Formats: sequence, structure tokens, C-alpha cells
Amino acid sequence: MSRIDHQWSELETLASGLDAQDPLGDFKTQFYRADPEEIYLDGNSLGRLPLESQRRLDEIIQSQWGEGLIRSWGERWYDAPKRIGDKLAGLIGAHPVEVILADSTTINLFKLAVSALAINSERKGIISDVLNFPTDLYTIWGAIQLLNRGHSLTLLDSEDGIQISLEAYQQALNEDTALVTFSTPTFKSGYLHQIHHMTQIAHQAGALVLWDFSHAVGVVPLDVNGWDVDFAVGCTYKYLNGGPGSPAFIFVNGKHLEKVSHQPLGWWGHQAPFTFDLDYQPADSIRRLLSGTPPILSLLPVEFGVDLVLKARVERIREKSQRLGNLFIRAFDARLTDLGFQLGSPRDDDRRGGHVSIRHPESYRIYQALTRELKLIPDFREPDNIRLGFAPLYTSYGDVLEAAERLGQAVEDRIYEKYTWERAKVT
Ligand SMILES: *Cc1c(COP(=O)(O)O)cnc(C)c1O
Repeated sequence: MSRIDHQWSELETLASGLDAQDPLGDFKTQFYRADPEEIYLDGNSLGRLPLESQRRLDEIIQSQWGEGLIRSWGERWYDAPKRIGDKLAGLIGAHPVEVILADSTTINLFKLAVSALAINSERKGIISDVLNFPTDLYTIWGAIQLLNRGHSLTLLDSEDGIQISLEAYQQALNEDTALVTFSTPTFKSGYLHQIHHMTQIAHQAGALVLWDFSHAVGVVPLDVNGWDVDFAVGCTYKYLNGGPGSPAFIFVNGKHLEKVSHQPLGWWGHQAPFTFDLDYQPADSIRRLLSGTPPILSLLPVEFGVDLVLKARVERIREKSQRLGNLFIRAFDARLTDLGFQLGSPRDDDRRGGHVSIRHPESYRIYQALTRELKLIPDFREPDNIRLGFAPLYTSYGDVLEAAERLGQAVEDRIYEKYTWERAKVT
């Protein structure tokens, strides 16, 4: 046996041992799976469909919409953003009174940025980094334009495109910093910031902190109260499997609740929406972060996704997530580095979230070969990242090795050469 074959068979033994003892192994039977041969590694972008959501949505449409009609607002729907928020609070270390579901992550970022800048109104500086998701930065630039009060956004650079340095962050903070805002783990490299430490340093400098946990919630344990985070948002359609476009969550630290004054104000944030009072009186609870009517059919399935994660327990999910990533990186070293791939994520699993990015000059064509004929579904992120999301509730250790194998095949057998560089509208 060659050295590579030997290494590979060792990895296979390791993977099958890990699968045999996996305490979360049975969770994959809770999700819809159309093709057993297909390996889905994009659960960090759109989680799989939980069978419970599939079952319950039919019934919800029939009985709550079809039969209950308007009565369902009072009986079932009015409290749903808060009820699901209460459950989600358990995943991020928040008190139930501090979390609600509303709108999209983009909209919620805007609401909270505007609120934070009003609270810290004497200061004008905002800090983020170049690894942030574009929408997060667009919302900040939009808020700056709209407020027109001389705010400015400083972006910390990244030398390697994978992480940012704490020193650069410390140097950027000063007595004019109003707000710091980061997404973690970062959407391309999967870099997990030092959330607690960075929050503390911001507070020492008198700044408020807004974290975007879109790629963390459901896969990385969070402790927003233990870390004294001021504000947070995150998607529910990624590792929480809420469904395409399901509403996002908002966390507001209880100490700030009375001071938040987001925009746009709307009747759902009113103390008593059904008085139809022409004077706006904000709710004294987290409901004040609502604006308009929630999208009930997209909202209700979030609960089933959150229930699964609560049942699996996020600490166990994280443990498996780290092992899946580490196994992939070992397979990557054994099989893919000689084929021109480079690692685009941290090797240290304490600094890495649930996905691993790999880079290759032919990434886009390889990605097409994978999705169109090799039954491996990752996603592609410009300029040359193939992003592999190892969602622990339905990804096995065996899947991870098989994914590395198919990646190797796409290059070795030159399958990618059939495909073009021309980008599709959605990647
Ligand atoms: C997925 C993601 C978003 C998407 O925001 P939407 O408003 O739901 O489109 C925003 N920020 C980050 C960091 C994300 O990972």
C-alpha cells in the first residue's frame, strides 16, 4: 500500500469508529433526504427540511389558516415571535425576555445599528472588518447616510483573508468609537472571533457591540449574557433549519431595552397595537423591536428547527462540528493539497466555526462539476472559495471523507474542464 492509501485507510477506520459512537448520529433521520447518494454540505446557507416541519406545515395551513382564519391570530399567531424567541434564547445564553423573531437579518442589523448609534450619540466611530458579510456593511453605510451626523466606518483588514488581528482591533478603538460590529464565524473563512474578549475591550473603550451570529447560532455555543453582549442578530434558516427566508432573531441586552429606539417604527412594536392609537407608544418588552405583521408561514417552522437543536444540545453539536472539520482537514492534507487546493479557513478548531473553505484556481468549475454530476453540494464564494458546511445534525464522518474523495475526483479526472467560468446568478 502506498503512503497515501495507508493514510486514507486510517482515516476511514477513524471515520467509521466516530460514526458508530456518534451520539447525534440518529438526528439525520429527522430530516428530509431526497437522494441518499447526495452529500449536502450547504446547511450553513440553507439548512435541510426537518420532517416535523414538513408534517406540521400542511396541518398549519389546513387548520390554522384554512379553518381558523382570522381567529388564529389571537389563538396561535400573535405570540409566536416571542414564544419562538424564548426558546431560541436558550441557544444563545440570553434571558427569554431579551429575544424575539422578526424580519430578516439585514433589517434587524439596521434597526439595532440605528438604536446603538442613538444610545452612544456623542461618538461617531464604527468599527468592523473586511471579512464581514456585505449586507452587514451595507446596512451600516445606509444608516450613516440616513443619519447624516458625521459617522464613519473603519474596516479592519485581514492579512491572510482568513482572520483579523486583535492588535489591529485594539488600535482602532478610541474615545470616539460608538459601535463595533462583526459577523462570526465569518461567512467565507469560518473564522470565529474572540467574542468575549473583543466585547470586553470594546466596553473598556466605551463602545457598544453588535454581533451577527448568523453562522454561529445552532452550531457554536453562545453566552450573550455571560459575555455582556449589547446587541445581536442572526439567521434562522442556516444551522437552525427554519426554511428559506425564515425570520431572523434579535437580541437586546435587558439593560438597553428601554433605550432602544429603532426604525422603522410600526404598529407591531406599539404597546397595544389593537388600540390603533395614533400616538406611538413603544411596547415595554422586546416586542418593541417588531415593526409590521410577521410572516407566519415562514415563522412557525423555525420552532421545529430550534426544537431539534435544543434536543441535540448545542455543546454536543459543537463537539461534533469540530471533529467533522478536523477530520476534513486531515483528509484535505492527505488527498487534496497535491491537487492545487489550499485551505481557506483556520486550522485551529477553537478559532473555526462549522464550515471549512478551500481555495483552488479552478474552484468555480470544480464547484459545478461537484453539484451537477458528483452529487456533492457545497457552495461557491468569490473569488475562489468552495465552502463546505458540515451541519452536525445530518452530516456523518463518512460523508466528510466521501466529500474529500469527490473533490479529488473532480480535479484528478479533469471533470471540471467540461464547465465554464461564467457565473450563475446564485452560487
Ligand atoms: C446569511 C447571512 C446574512 C443574510 O441576511 P438576510 O437578511 O437573511 O439576507 C447576513 N449576515 C450574515 C453574517 C450572514 O451569514
